[in-house]
Amino acid sequence: MKHLKSIFFSAFLGGSFFLTAQNNTYWQQHVDYTMDVEMDVKTFQYSGTQKLVYTNNSPDELSRVFYHLYYNAFQPGSEMDIRLQNIKDPDKRMMEDDKSRIASLSETEIGYLHAKSLTQDGQPVTFTEEGTILVVDLAKPIPSGGKTTLEMTFEGQVPEQIRRAGRNSKEGVALSMSQWYPKLSEYDFEGWHPNPYIAREFHGVWGDFDVKLTLDKDYTVGGTGYLRNPQEIGHGYEAPDTKVKTKGKTLTWHFKAPNVHDFMWAADPEYIHDVYEMEDGPTLHFLYKDNPDFIENWKKLQPKTAEAMAFFSKNVGKYPYDQYSVIQGGDGGMEYAMSTLITGGRELGSLVGVMAHEMAHSWFQHVLATNESEHEWMDEGFTSFISSLCMNEIMDRNKENPFQGSYRGYFALVNSGLEMPQSTHADRYTTNFAYGVAAYSKGSIFLSQLGYIIGQDKLMETIHKYFEDFKFKHPVPNDIKRTAEKVSGMELNWYLTDWTQTTNTIDYGIKSVETDGENTKVTMERIGEMPMPLDILVVGKDGTQETYYVPLRMMYGEKDNPYPNLKRTVLEDWPWAYPTYEFTLDMPLENVEAIMIDPSQLMADVDGENNVYQAEEE
Ligand SMILES: [Zn+2]
Repeated sequence: MKHLKSIFFSAFLGGSFFLTAQNNTYWQQHVDYTMDVEMDVKTFQYSGTQKLVYTNNSPDELSRVFYHLYYNAFQPGSEMDIRLQNIKDPDKRMMEDDKSRIASLSETEIGYLHAKSLTQDGQPVTFTEEGTILVVDLAKPIPSGGKTTLEMTFEGQVPEQIRRAGRNSKEGVALSMSQWYPKLSEYDFEGWHPNPYIAREFHGVWGDFDVKLTLDKDYTVGGTGYLRNPQEIGHGYEAPDTKVKTKGKTLTWHFKAPNVHDFMWAADPEYIHDVYEMEDGPTLHFLYKDNPDFIENWKKLQPKTAEAMAFFSKNVGKYPYDQYSVIQGGDGGMEYAMSTLITGGRELGSLVGVMAHEMAHSWFQHVLATNESEHEWMDEGFTSFISSLCMNEIMDRNKENPFQGSYRGYFALVNSGLEMPQSTHADRYTTNFAYGVAAYSKGSIFLSQLGYIIGQDKLMETIHKYFEDFKFKHPVPNDIKRTAEKVSGMELNWYLTDWTQTTNTIDYGIKSVETDGENTKVTMERIGEMPMPLDILVVGKDGTQETYYVPLRMMYGEKDNPYPNLKRTVLEDWPWAYPTYEFTLDMPLENVEAIMIDPSQLMADVDGENNVYQAEEE
């Protein structure tokens, strides 16, 4: 069947689109952070002050607020620990000898983050710690449209690195400081989101950060935000050809980050720090360990990072900050505001791959910032989709279908019987396997398959418009569907509901191919519950190729011919409830070499075998 192999995969990258109209009116809370923090690099303990100016843009009066204290998850008996001990397929990084690494942490190795004092506009408030969440009963309610100032002193201890953040990573990075400060929980049109830190994910309030970090002067720091005092700091941030003289044992780094919902930093005494200026884009920073085995890869990574930045800016929307930093740290790859933490001991392809994925999150996790706990597939899936396209281009892979891995993963999940709907909360999947495939693979297929349904140009236009209309707005599933509907003129509710809220599968088949006088009668059947429109390729014995298109009635629309150099016949709609569908080929049966449903293989049909009819060998 080689000659039928997805030979018609058409280019994804359409033109550019200029869209202006805002068609969504979500309100957003706003919070400005001013923090002053001192870190003891020997004990990994830190303390700080936090002044938070919170603007209530909601229509509601708020009488309490919540903070995340993520580091409390890294203690024996925490929800994260207990979940780790009970889930069937725990994250291997968090286990040692089949046991939870959290369970065996000593007092000096655990993580913690505690509020010591808290006032609202100068008045003390009542606060209680419930695991990783601080519940605060306000001294006086914040009216709709009102503003309040919350001032806190806090103390923390950086845990041994178990997951994402922590001290002394496997690769020897001293401080991977993510999820490290008391972070105000988001309140949006769905209400509060005080999700306990069990495994994943994150949601936050946009605002301006002003952060001062004081630590041992030998440590180089990178992360979210622009350094405001480079001439006092040096460490590669100083102006070219200038010298910086420091005195004392510590340095105080002053960062500002506008309009972000998170603030990460990392520090190590052995970081190499390279600055890469893009011609027409943000300044890129690279911080990585001085390991002779990987320095060359980290140098080669730098122009590839610039290419990825340009690719995403062109295909999704303009990157809205002047800086992006790729920093060695953490335990794999994780996205943060204006930056990422990735492990560094990798082959070049893997290093570029993880950078591209984490950087793509800047658009989906950070600027669009869908609530990842509830709609994980809109973040991990869309990020996987666009980074697969990016890798195909910047690494010259030229795969016809760069998403094949996602389809393989999805089919494996369906066959395992462990699939749960994508609308499941990220922490509540029975297995990590079901979460991973639903979020990353099935989420990526949501878009690649949408391209099959509405056409590739319309898909790229949808992604562009979605970004422009919903940046800094926390979009929800209906928003990507509505955007695709507006761009394509088709009705797509069936696609959103079946694909994301159920485990219905797609299975169409060619039931029979029979002679019908001078013509050939083809009967197809719908075996799965999920509806789809169909592209059908017909190959004649003489090598001719033509296509047929069967629109789905409930779409009320037809896509453009995806194979413009082949003759296409648009057939009658297939109303979903009908289990079978017949059409006639204008050629006798003996001239038919093969018939194939969806030659692009972008439709996630769970049984590909029955998609093909091949004439008997003579
Ligand atoms: Zn990701």
